[in-house]
Amino acid sequence: MIHYKTSEEVQLIKESAQILGKAHGEVAKLVKPGVKTADLDKVAEEFIRDHGGIPSFKGYNGFPASLCISVNEVVVHGFPSGYVLKDGDIISIDCGVFHQGFHSDCAYTYPVGEVSPKVLSLLKATKESLYLGIENAIAGKRIGDIGNAIQKYVEAKGYTVVRELVGHGVGKSLHESPEVPNYGKKGSGPLLKDGMVLAIEPMVNLGTRNVVQERDGWTIRTADRRPSAHFEHTVAIFEDRTEILTTHQYIEENFKF
Ligand code: MG
Ligand code: MG
Repeated sequence: MIHYKTSEEVQLIKESAQILGKAHGEVAKLVKPGVKTADLDKVAEEFIRDHGGIPSFKGYNGFPASLCISVNEVVVHGFPSGYVLKDGDIISIDCGVFHQGFHSDCAYTYPVGEVSPKVLSLLKATKESLYLGIENAIAGKRIGDIGNAIQKYVEAKGYTVVRELVGHGVGKSLHESPEVPNYGKKGSGPLLKDGMVLAIEPMVNLGTRNVVQERDGWTIRTADRRPSAHFEHTVAIFEDRTEILTTHQYIEENFKF
């Protein structure tokens, strides 16, 4: 069942997303070679709690942290750990905030230090595909139009789209209906309507699209251990426009690639 939000509810999600965006910005200041990923998690959790929010991921089905930190071949759902970032890594940082009864969800993949041009191109294309997906997330279109736009764009560049993990509705629950695949056919799936709030989150691989789950029950990595990128926004669909509720602004003030 899809929960359609009132404009007041969308406003609450936007307020949650502001805390989230600023938490991402605090983390962005620290992403560089030599930093332990567990330290990024601490900074995010402290910022979110100091601003009256609750980290959505911590304790979600037993997830142990406030951030999903996914380095290099890890696609999503990696744990913050004692791993120390090194020059040439890429790191996906995914975070959610629960505030005033509503969640928001947003992710960004960073190059760490000097990254190979090939991998940097993967990051750029994945970020661009997110915005193409959002351009197609408008009232009157269908869920499949979002995934189709993402898939067509990244596959034309020789990349592949992960199928096993998808975007989702966002609201009082972190993951709501409908699923938002990053692949699909134009004109297929649920109709996009006023009041839908969706997390759109392309996961794009340099090599095979196949992924495997590690024995920890969470970490998803590429089957061929080549790099994977992930960008995410939470958006609200209105009759006459679509608004991006989350923001990468505070990341990109501190971090350019
Ligand atoms: Mg997320
Ligand atoms: Mg999500």
